Amino acid sequence: MIIHLDMDAFFASVEIRENPELVGFPVVVGGPSKTRGVVAAANYAARKYGVYSAMPMVQATRLCPDLRILPVNMALYVSVSKQIHEIFNRYTPEIEPLSLDEAFLDVSGSLKLFGSAAEIAQRIKKEIKDELQLVVSAGVAPNKFVAKIASDIDKPDGFVVVEENEVQAFLDPLPVKRIWGVGKKTEQQLHNYGITTIKDLRSQTERWLMDRFGKHGDHIYRLAHGWDKREVISDVKAKSISNETTFVEDITDKESLIAYLSQLTEQVATRLREKDRKGKTVNIKVRFHDFTTIIRSKTLSEASNQTEKIWQAARALFNSAMKESAMRQPAVRLLGVGVSGFSDEHVVQGDLFSENAKYDELDEVADEINQRFGKLKIHRGRNTK
Ligand SMILES: [Mg+2]
Repeated sequence: MIIHLDMDAFFASVEIRENPELVGFPVVVGGPSKTRGVVAAANYAARKYGVYSAMPMVQATRLCPDLRILPVNMALYVSVSKQIHEIFNRYTPEIEPLSLDEAFLDVSGSLKLFGSAAEIAQRIKKEIKDELQLVVSAGVAPNKFVAKIASDIDKPDGFVVVEENEVQAFLDPLPVKRIWGVGKKTEQQLHNYGITTIKDLRSQTERWLMDRFGKHGDHIYRLAHGWDKREVISDVKAKSISNETTFVEDITDKESLIAYLSQLTEQVATRLREKDRKGKTVNIKVRFHDFTTIIRSKTLSEASNQTEKIWQAARALFNSAMKESAMRQPAVRLLGVGVSGFSDEHVVQGDLFSENAKYDELDEVADEINQRFGKLKIHRGRNTK
């Protein structure tokens, strides 16, 4: 069985825990200011006003003038994320992180020791609440696809278990957009055929779907039946480390996009350093509102896990991707940053005066401070121009 765990309003919840006077207020993390940048996370009080993560900050403050805005403190979230992972690790080493606050766990090998997957999920929820004063939603299911929907459907503080023989009954009434890969465009096309639920979709033949949607039709056919064979790939085995985010509304403001790109880069670089890995290739993914997707990569002169090195490559790739877009003012719906091409050699750089050593040192100090004093507000300033 697979458990999907997803922290509720993660960045915002951590900030509220650190600043109890914010309890009860609409809170977002993001910025840098009321008029610039994007919302990185919104608590549930803010969501009542229609404020969501990845929304331009200027729009969020328009929707909710009373909004409390806190700067992104990635160092703090990374250190809390580490503590969360330590709790996961008590139950299985088979952990595939999707971002700082979300992971798949394969607990198939842990059942003898700890009881059922549902019991393990309950224990993880309780330990995260007791030890970290944070709330996680859990979905337990035979595969990743169903587990991910299950963790989301009862948020916040969700706990949904879908047994093997319940998968179809669980999926059938859900809207087709719940299926990975069914975006607005496919959803509209399906609606035009009178297909609104997963059950409607499942009633079509594979042939019928493939005739209309090509290979994509085969993909949604399989997921509609709850078939998903993908395994949980732990970081140790992973060939790349990446983070991506889909915006609630397409973003055209370049400054906001760059602010988001910078956050994604910081997350990926920190995860690399945590795993003691260095990669030679930096990848970015930009998906535009018409679903055209540009994936670009750049090879570094040497394998790295330095935030600054990865950032420089990611930003250059982003700029050229934006230029490549045929749109006059590109509207972006998804942004992703990844590093691959791992070298397993641990090269020690001896030259303290090189620029390299300077950045290594900077990262090292930041990581160390984060580990020891997670509450310190350490994050580097960055020109987003
Ligand atoms: Mg979350």
